Amino acid sequence: MNTMDDSSRRGFLGSGLAAASAGLLAGGVSEAGAAGEAGEGVSADKVRYAELLPDAFRARLAARPVAYLPLGTLEWHGEHLPLGADAIQSEALMVECARRFGGIVLPPIHLGPDRARPAADGTMLVGMDYADTTTPPRRLDGSCYWVSQGLHLQMVDAILEQLKRAGFRAVFADGHGPSRTSWVANIKEREARYGMRLLGVTSNVLARWKSQVDHAARNETSLMLHYRPDLVDMSRLPQSKEEKPQGVGGDDPREATAAHGRECMEVSVKTVGELLADAGLI
Ligand SMILES: [Zn+2]
Repeated sequence: MNTMDDSSRRGFLGSGLAAASAGLLAGGVSEAGAAGEAGEGVSADKVRYAELLPDAFRARLAARPVAYLPLGTLEWHGEHLPLGADAIQSEALMVECARRFGGIVLPPIHLGPDRARPAADGTMLVGMDYADTTTPPRRLDGSCYWVSQGLHLQMVDAILEQLKRAGFRAVFADGHGPSRTSWVANIKEREARYGMRLLGVTSNVLARWKSQVDHAARNETSLMLHYRPDLVDMSRLPQSKEEKPQGVGGDDPREATAAHGRECMEVSVKTVGELLADAGLI
Protein backbone atom coordinates (compact mmCIF):
# COMPACT_ATOMS: atom_id res chain seq x y z
CA MET A 1 0.00 0.00 0.00
CA ASN A 2 1.24 3.44 -0.88
CA THR A 3 0.83 5.79 2.05
CA MET A 4 2.19 8.92 0.45
CA ASP A 5 -0.17 11.84 0.38
CA ASP A 6 -0.34 14.02 -2.72
CA SER A 7 2.12 16.64 -1.58
CA SER A 8 4.80 14.17 -0.51
CA ARG A 9 4.24 12.23 -3.74
CA ARG A 10 4.84 15.42 -5.72
CA GLY A 11 7.97 16.08 -3.69
CA PHE A 12 9.12 12.53 -4.25
CA LEU A 13 8.45 12.67 -7.97
CA GLY A 14 10.13 16.05 -8.20
CA SER A 15 13.26 14.85 -6.47
CA GLY A 16 13.21 11.70 -8.58
CA LEU A 17 13.15 13.78 -11.73
CA ALA A 18 15.92 16.00 -10.44
CA ALA A 19 17.98 12.95 -9.56
CA ALA A 20 17.34 11.41 -12.96
CA SER A 21 18.44 14.53 -14.78
CA ALA A 22 21.45 14.91 -12.51
CA GLY A 23 22.36 11.35 -13.45
CA LEU A 24 22.07 12.23 -17.13
CA LEU A 25 24.11 15.35 -16.72
CA ALA A 26 26.70 13.91 -14.43
CA GLY A 27 27.44 10.32 -15.35
CA GLY A 28 30.71 9.61 -13.63
CA VAL A 29 33.95 7.87 -14.29
CA SER A 30 34.38 5.69 -11.28
CA GLU A 31 37.03 3.15 -11.98
CA ALA A 32 39.17 2.52 -8.96
CA GLY A 33 42.70 3.74 -9.39
CA ALA A 34 41.83 6.37 -11.99
CA ALA A 35 44.19 8.73 -10.20
CA GLY A 36 47.16 6.54 -11.03
CA GLU A 37 49.68 5.35 -8.50
CA ALA A 38 49.37 6.89 -5.09
CA GLY A 39 52.33 8.89 -3.88
CA GLU A 40 53.75 8.95 -0.38
CA GLY A 41 51.26 9.93 2.25
CA VAL A 42 48.28 9.49 -0.07
CA SER A 43 45.50 7.64 1.63
CA ALA A 44 43.51 5.13 -0.36
CA ASP A 45 40.26 6.33 1.20
CA LYS A 46 37.19 6.34 -0.96
CA VAL A 47 36.58 9.95 -1.97
CA ARG A 48 34.00 9.70 -4.77
CA TYR A 49 30.58 10.89 -3.61
CA ALA A 50 28.71 8.14 -5.47
CA GLU A 51 30.72 5.38 -3.79
CA LEU A 52 30.34 6.50 -0.17
CA LEU A 53 28.15 4.82 2.42
CA PRO A 54 26.32 7.43 4.55
CA ASP A 55 28.64 6.86 7.49
CA ALA A 56 31.75 7.55 5.40
CA PHE A 57 30.00 10.55 3.84
CA ARG A 58 29.22 11.99 7.29
CA ALA A 59 32.79 11.48 8.46
CA ARG A 60 34.40 13.02 5.36
CA LEU A 61 31.95 15.95 5.34
CA ALA A 62 32.56 16.68 9.03
CA ALA A 63 36.33 16.52 8.58
CA ARG A 64 36.44 18.73 5.46
CA PRO A 65 33.16 20.10 4.06
CA VAL A 66 34.68 20.66 0.61
CA ALA A 67 33.19 19.32 -2.64
CA TYR A 68 35.13 19.00 -5.90
CA LEU A 69 33.17 19.37 -9.15
CA PRO A 70 34.87 18.06 -12.33
CA LEU A 71 33.81 20.01 -15.43
CA GLY A 72 34.02 17.56 -18.32
CA THR A 73 32.78 17.03 -21.87
CA LEU A 74 32.33 14.25 -24.38
CA GLU A 75 34.53 15.84 -27.00
CA TRP A 76 36.95 15.00 -29.78
CA HIS A 77 40.47 15.02 -28.30
CA GLY A 78 42.40 13.90 -31.38
CA GLU A 79 42.50 10.33 -32.66
CA HIS A 80 44.74 9.35 -29.73
CA LEU A 81 42.70 10.35 -26.63
CA PRO A 82 39.29 9.20 -25.38
CA LEU A 83 36.23 11.38 -25.82
CA GLY A 84 35.80 11.74 -22.06
CA ALA A 85 39.34 13.06 -21.55
CA ASP A 86 38.19 16.31 -19.88
CA ALA A 87 36.13 14.57 -17.21
CA ILE A 88 38.76 11.87 -16.69
CA GLN A 89 41.53 14.42 -16.08
CA SER A 90 39.56 16.79 -13.86
CA GLU A 91 38.11 13.94 -11.79
CA ALA A 92 41.49 12.23 -11.38
CA LEU A 93 43.13 15.47 -10.24
CA MET A 94 40.33 16.03 -7.72
CA VAL A 95 40.52 12.47 -6.41
CA GLU A 96 44.20 13.13 -5.72
CA CYS A 97 43.33 16.43 -3.98
CA ALA A 98 40.60 14.80 -1.88
CA ARG A 99 42.94 12.02 -0.79
CA ARG A 100 45.56 14.53 0.30
CA PHE A 101 43.46 17.42 1.64
CA GLY A 102 40.08 15.83 2.40
CA GLY A 103 36.73 16.51 0.79
CA ILE A 104 34.44 14.62 -1.57
CA VAL A 105 34.55 14.36 -5.40
CA LEU A 106 31.29 14.75 -7.32
CA PRO A 107 30.56 12.81 -10.51
CA PRO A 108 31.76 14.88 -13.48
CA ILE A 109 29.42 16.97 -15.60
CA HIS A 110 29.83 15.94 -19.24
CA LEU A 111 27.93 18.87 -20.75
CA GLY A 112 29.34 22.37 -21.09
CA PRO A 113 29.26 25.61 -23.04
CA ASP A 114 31.63 26.49 -25.88
CA ARG A 115 31.88 28.93 -28.76
CA ALA A 116 29.52 28.07 -31.61
CA ARG A 117 28.77 29.30 -35.12
CA PRO A 118 26.67 28.08 -38.02
CA ALA A 119 28.43 26.30 -40.91
CA ALA A 120 27.62 27.11 -44.55
CA ASP A 121 24.98 24.37 -44.59
CA GLY A 122 23.28 25.78 -41.47
CA THR A 123 24.49 23.10 -39.07
CA MET A 124 26.25 24.30 -35.93
CA LEU A 125 29.99 24.04 -35.42
CA VAL A 126 31.24 24.16 -31.83
CA GLY A 127 34.59 24.63 -30.12
CA MET A 128 37.40 22.78 -31.88
CA ASP A 129 35.19 22.12 -34.95
CA TYR A 130 36.54 25.40 -36.28
CA ALA A 131 40.00 25.63 -34.74
CA ASP A 132 42.98 26.53 -36.92
CA THR A 133 44.08 22.89 -36.81
CA THR A 134 40.72 21.57 -38.03
CA THR A 135 40.97 21.63 -41.82
CA PRO A 136 38.44 21.98 -43.23
CA PRO A 137 36.20 23.15 -40.35
CA ARG A 138 33.75 20.32 -39.68
CA ARG A 139 31.87 18.48 -36.96
CA LEU A 140 34.59 16.50 -35.22
CA ASP A 141 33.62 12.90 -34.54
CA GLY A 142 32.27 12.15 -31.10
CA SER A 143 31.77 15.70 -29.82
CA CYS A 144 28.51 15.57 -27.89
CA TYR A 145 28.58 18.05 -25.02
CA TRP A 146 27.44 21.50 -26.06
CA VAL A 147 24.85 23.34 -24.00
CA SER A 148 24.16 27.05 -23.92
CA GLN A 149 25.91 29.23 -21.40
CA GLY A 150 22.52 29.81 -19.73
CA LEU A 151 21.72 26.13 -19.33
CA HIS A 152 25.17 25.45 -17.95
CA LEU A 153 24.73 28.23 -15.39
CA GLN A 154 21.41 26.69 -14.35
CA MET A 155 22.90 23.19 -14.07
CA VAL A 156 25.75 24.41 -11.88
CA ASP A 157 23.33 26.54 -9.81
CA ALA A 158 21.20 23.45 -9.19
CA ILE A 159 24.24 21.44 -8.12
CA LEU A 160 25.38 24.22 -5.75
CA GLU A 161 21.91 24.41 -4.22
CA GLN A 162 22.01 20.69 -3.50
CA LEU A 163 25.59 20.78 -2.17
CA LYS A 164 24.61 23.50 0.26
CA ARG A 165 21.62 21.43 1.36
CA ALA A 166 23.88 18.40 1.85
CA GLY A 167 26.11 20.42 4.19
CA PHE A 168 29.12 21.45 2.09
CA ARG A 169 30.73 24.81 2.86
CA ALA A 170 33.10 25.09 -0.11
CA VAL A 171 33.34 23.90 -3.72
CA PHE A 172 36.34 23.69 -6.04
CA ALA A 173 35.45 23.26 -9.73
CA ASP A 174 37.65 22.96 -12.81
CA GLY A 175 38.07 21.18 -16.13
CA HIS A 176 37.19 22.02 -19.74
CA GLY A 177 38.30 25.57 -20.63
CA PRO A 178 34.95 27.25 -21.38
CA SER A 179 33.34 25.65 -18.30
CA ARG A 180 36.30 26.80 -16.19
CA THR A 181 35.90 30.34 -17.54
CA SER A 182 32.19 30.36 -16.76
CA TRP A 183 32.80 29.03 -13.25
CA VAL A 184 35.49 31.58 -12.43
CA ALA A 185 33.49 34.50 -13.85
CA ASN A 186 30.54 33.73 -11.57
CA ILE A 187 32.35 32.91 -8.30
CA LYS A 188 31.69 36.23 -6.52
CA GLU A 189 28.01 36.40 -7.35
CA ARG A 190 27.41 32.77 -6.42
CA GLU A 191 29.34 33.05 -3.17
CA ALA A 192 26.98 35.83 -2.16
CA ARG A 193 23.93 33.86 -3.31
CA TYR A 194 24.78 30.49 -1.76
CA GLY A 195 26.89 31.52 1.23
CA MET A 196 29.57 28.96 0.30
CA ARG A 197 33.25 29.50 -0.46
CA LEU A 198 33.86 28.80 -4.17
CA LEU A 199 37.32 28.12 -5.57
CA GLY A 200 38.70 27.65 -9.05
CA VAL A 201 41.55 28.52 -11.39
CA THR A 202 41.26 32.22 -10.71
CA SER A 203 43.64 34.85 -12.10
CA ASN A 204 45.89 34.66 -9.01
CA VAL A 205 46.83 31.03 -9.79
CA LEU A 206 46.27 30.80 -13.56
CA ALA A 207 49.96 31.36 -14.45
CA ARG A 208 51.10 28.31 -12.49
CA TRP A 209 48.15 26.03 -13.25
CA LYS A 210 49.17 22.99 -15.29
CA SER A 211 46.03 20.90 -15.68
CA GLN A 212 44.02 20.97 -18.92
CA VAL A 213 45.78 23.99 -20.34
CA ASP A 214 45.67 22.93 -24.02
CA HIS A 215 43.44 20.79 -26.20
CA ALA A 216 44.60 17.20 -26.70
CA ALA A 217 48.14 18.54 -27.08
CA ARG A 218 51.25 17.94 -24.93
CA ASN A 219 49.63 18.89 -21.62
CA GLU A 220 46.38 16.94 -21.85
CA THR A 221 48.08 13.98 -23.56
CA SER A 222 50.75 13.81 -20.83
CA LEU A 223 48.08 13.96 -18.10
CA MET A 224 46.14 11.14 -19.77
CA LEU A 225 49.34 9.10 -20.12
CA HIS A 226 49.80 9.52 -16.37
CA TYR A 227 46.21 8.91 -15.24
CA ARG A 228 44.89 6.38 -17.76
CA PRO A 229 47.57 5.12 -20.18
CA ASP A 230 45.23 2.24 -21.04
CA LEU A 231 42.92 4.74 -22.78
CA VAL A 232 45.61 6.45 -24.90
CA ASP A 233 46.84 5.25 -28.31
CA MET A 234 49.83 7.34 -29.40
CA SER A 235 50.17 5.28 -32.60
CA ARG A 236 47.04 7.04 -33.90
CA LEU A 237 48.94 10.32 -34.20
CA PRO A 238 50.48 11.11 -37.62
CA GLN A 239 53.97 9.59 -38.00
CA SER A 240 55.39 12.51 -39.96
CA LYS A 241 56.16 15.59 -37.87
CA GLU A 242 55.26 17.64 -40.94
CA GLU A 243 51.66 16.56 -40.54
CA LYS A 244 49.77 18.41 -37.80
CA PRO A 245 47.26 16.35 -35.80
CA GLN A 246 43.69 17.47 -36.56
CA GLY A 247 41.63 19.38 -34.01
CA VAL A 248 44.47 19.67 -31.49
CA GLY A 249 45.53 22.95 -29.87
CA GLY A 250 48.89 23.53 -28.18
CA ASP A 251 52.36 21.97 -28.19
CA ASP A 252 52.92 18.77 -30.15
CA PRO A 253 51.18 15.82 -28.41
CA ARG A 254 53.90 13.53 -29.79
CA GLU A 255 56.22 15.11 -27.17
CA ALA A 256 53.92 14.00 -24.33
CA THR A 257 55.14 11.71 -21.54
CA ALA A 258 53.54 10.21 -18.46
CA ALA A 259 56.35 11.72 -16.35
CA HIS A 260 55.47 15.21 -17.60
CA GLY A 261 51.82 14.47 -16.84
CA ARG A 262 52.69 13.55 -13.29
CA GLU A 263 54.68 16.78 -12.85
CA CYS A 264 51.74 18.80 -14.19
CA MET A 265 49.40 17.01 -11.79
CA GLU A 266 51.69 17.62 -8.81
CA VAL A 267 51.96 21.35 -9.54
CA SER A 268 48.18 21.60 -9.86
CA VAL A 269 47.46 19.58 -6.69
CA LYS A 270 49.85 21.88 -4.81
CA THR A 271 47.99 24.89 -6.19
CA VAL A 272 44.63 23.53 -5.03
CA GLY A 273 46.20 23.01 -1.59
CA GLU A 274 47.26 26.66 -1.54
CA LEU A 275 43.77 27.80 -2.56
CA LEU A 276 42.22 25.72 0.23
CA ALA A 277 44.77 27.00 2.76
CA ASP A 278 44.29 30.64 1.71
CA ALA A 279 40.55 30.17 2.21
CA GLY A 280 41.17 28.78 5.71
CA LEU A 281 39.71 25.42 4.71
CA ILE A 282 42.75 23.29 5.58
ZN1 LIG B 1 40.28 18.71 -22.96
